[in-house]
Amino acid sequence: MSIWSNPAELLCRLGRHKPAPDPVWNRGYWFSSCTRCGLDLVRTAAGRWHVPKGRKVVWKQKRPRGKRPGK
Ligand SMILES: [Zn+2]
Repeated sequence: MSIWSNPAELLCRLGRHKPAPDPVWNRGYWFSSCTRCGLDLVRTAAGRWHVPKGRKVVWKQKRPRGKRPGK
């Protein structure tokens, strides 16, 4: 498979990902995913978007199932 097969993803390979317009803020990081290649992206408040290395973003369900654990 050639890296030229998809010019848009070539930008991704260069680290120029295109985060989705609805990032999620959690524990000091912004989380999103690339609208081009679909990889998970992480950004600090001051940093730039990058693919987390050695970590996997776990997307939680937006609507919790069942009851919350009691306090
Ligand atoms: Zn990308």
